[in-house]
Amino acid sequence: MGENLNLFTSTQHVINDALAKLGYTEEMYELLKEPVRMLTVRIPVRMDDGSIQVFTGYRAQHNDAVGPTKGGVRFHPEVDEEEVKALSMWMSLKCGIVDLPYGGGKGGIICDPRTMSFAELEKLSRGYVRAISQIVGPTKDIPAPDVYTNSQIMAWMMDEYSRLRENDSPGFITGKPIVLGGSQGREKATAQGVTICIEEAAKKRNINIKGARVVIQGFGNAGSFLAKFMHDAGAKVVAISDAHGALYDENGLDIDYLLDRRDSFGTVTTLFENTISNKELLELECDILVPAAISNQITSENAHNIKAAIVVEAANGPTTFEATKILSERGILLVPDVLASAGGVTVSYFEWVQNNQGYYWSEEEVNEKLHAKLVSAFNNVYETSENRRVNMRLAAYMVGARKMAEASRFRGWV
Ligand code: GLU
Repeated sequence: MGENLNLFTSTQHVINDALAKLGYTEEMYELLKEPVRMLTVRIPVRMDDGSIQVFTGYRAQHNDAVGPTKGGVRFHPEVDEEEVKALSMWMSLKCGIVDLPYGGGKGGIICDPRTMSFAELEKLSRGYVRAISQIVGPTKDIPAPDVYTNSQIMAWMMDEYSRLRENDSPGFITGKPIVLGGSQGREKATAQGVTICIEEAAKKRNINIKGARVVIQGFGNAGSFLAKFMHDAGAKVVAISDAHGALYDENGLDIDYLLDRRDSFGTVTTLFENTISNKELLELECDILVPAAISNQITSENAHNIKAAIVVEAANGPTTFEATKILSERGILLVPDVLASAGGVTVSYFEWVQNNQGYYWSEEEVNEKLHAKLVSAFNNVYETSENRRVNMRLAAYMVGARKMAEASRFRGWV
């Protein structure tokens, strides 16, 4: 039988294993195996050429026992219902791991923003908010940026929401521009979180970040800021990639130059002739490998060829279930997505807190609080993995699921 590449069913498997290890009954799994709410919407948009295009969007709310649901909205041609469901479950786990007072949510629209104008994107963003307005809000479900969405899109969404519900808007969405109540440090937060996880993992494996060889797959929000942080910390970023290919230099790449040349979707390799494939990139000699692009990149086919000592998942679901087992049997320290990519939602939480109290923090204050949360989350997961003799992914799911399971039990739901 081929390996399971379905993100939704493989997430269900790990949640099931985690709940069983924690001693919960099958009934708890019945509650947590699917989002409690899933809304599908159709959004008509008048395009620049005068035609009407009707887009399909989703909003999934996984579990709201702990508090309002929280999670990004992605704009991508390959969004589908099952993916949005899986992503909402991961958001619940992330919030549990970093101990935020939220459950998980996620949204998506099937569209290709790379081929749309600003005016079309604005209409689509506003249409989406009108369509989901009944089920979202600062005490219900709080959206944020995700793949191919950014602070401008959050601003349009907030503006549309403030027209519908006058008094209730600043904390409705996070990842906003600073002038509209965004938080210092939010844009770089995912990469900051990954960096903190790399530092903690490197300590466990006695790797010095200075001089360490780092390979990063993906040059979007997470990948590009991460490359910069690693470069500034004295690591040698030997390879990076985008959807078109990868660049490799064993002496280290000129990251500042690449950042300067990348476009807003993270494309940069098309400017160069000597490229290697994304597949080759994953198997390069290095100390730290960071998949920061798309799912199902490390599978049972290439897991045996990975040469890194540490793999830190900045993307959602880059390593399959099978590959996770292979890497952990080979002694490679894998920092799973639900932990490594939790920096974004952590600073989103700080943004929401600042909006609620109307008092704003400095970037240092934000970064200090982010650091404290992620170091404690990392060590919690690492210790669970050691004490319970389970791999880091299962350990992260155990830490992440415990809080929502307990909250659901106390509420008398299960
Ligand atoms: N989209 C990001 C994530 O997947 C951030 C979500 C948020 O800030 O709420 O974690």
